[in-house]
Amino acid sequence: MENHQSVLSRPHNGDLDDILGVTIPALDDGFIRVIDYMGTDESIVQAARVSYGAGTKKVSEDRGLIRYLLRNRHTTPFEMCELKLHVRVPMDCWRQWIRHRTASVNEYSTRYSVAVDACRTTRPDEWRAQSDINKQGSGAAISSELGARLSQSEAEFHQASKALYHDRLDAGVAREQARKDLPLSTYTEAYWKIDLHNLLHFLALRMDSHAQYEIREYAQLIGREIVSKWVPLTWEAFLDYRLNGLSLSDIETRLLALLAQGRTEEAVQFLYEKKWLHEQQATVKESREAGEFKVKLQRMGMPVPW
Ligand SMILES: Cc1cc2nc3c(=O)[nH]c(=O)nc-3n(C[C@H](O)[C@H](O)[C@H](O)COP(=O)(O)OP(=O)(O)OC[C@H]3O[C@@H](n4cnc5c(N)ncnc54)[C@H](O)[C@@H]3O)c2cc1C
Repeated sequence: MENHQSVLSRPHNGDLDDILGVTIPALDDGFIRVIDYMGTDESIVQAARVSYGAGTKKVSEDRGLIRYLLRNRHTTPFEMCELKLHVRVPMDCWRQWIRHRTASVNEYSTRYSVAVDACRTTRPDEWRAQSDINKQGSGAAISSELGARLSQSEAEFHQASKALYHDRLDAGVAREQARKDLPLSTYTEAYWKIDLHNLLHFLALRMDSHAQYEIREYAQLIGREIVSKWVPLTWEAFLDYRLNGLSLSDIETRLLALLAQGRTEEAVQFLYEKKWLHEQQATVKESREAGEFKVKLQRMGMPVPW
């Protein structure tokens, strides 16, 4: 057992200490900055090995243990680490962010204080068309001529909504009511504290290409600028197993086995049996699952048999 009489030193990470309080810009007027943190890779290892005492394990063994824990979803050791951020985010993006219920949040109050005087603005080359294939996604970039017109009308709208808000405040309207017509592009600020296990869950969802561009920007900054410095061994394992790794369902594994053995016809027949493929007006239509499997095959450099 660990000697509980010994004096403990607080685990810290010099690379993260160096950026404590430093503003990391996001989007046009947003930011994230680290306010505080608890624990390091070492704390995860220490928690996992609590039954054996701190020991004198080498870094390579720590790396192996962290990879094992992450790979096998032994999650509680990762909950021993916590991160507290100060974030400044447009309200539409914040609305997605706040759906992650496992964080502790204190948000800037626009009942108590005048709203942050900044809106997310869109450059002419930043407008995105509606995706044809994903009902909740973006497609190609909009032409810069049209983009210039959209950015111009956006600026006029921001100006008008700001004037309306301040007119109400000047007329003595309560801040809690005056704010009701502020655009969703208005920036808000919050302190956001979360443990590493739930932070990795947030990053896996919000760094993914299916997440909206704006929240993805923040998630990528949190991952690359903060988590990679704070817990480098965990970050490496997360990239390997979660973010960039592939998972295969039972059906996919069976299909892959058939394809690897050159039994392509059987694989295609199996795809029809499972209704992943069907024919419509003499063309082969694929289900969403088949489409996702196709992407996996392409990543593995395997031919797609349909
Ligand atoms: C690409 C994308 C598209 C989305 N589209 C929509 C949409 O169209 N509409 C919409 O409403 N939302 C949408 N969401 C939000 C999504 O459904 C989740 O609410 C959000 O991602 C938070 O995920 P979470 O609940 O896993 O995270 P957290 O709230 O951080 O929870 C983490 C985990 O803790 C557990 N947990 C937390 N609270 C509870 C609880 N009360 N009961 C049981 N288990 C709990 C769960 O295991 C959960 O996965 C979308 C999210 C993404 C990433």
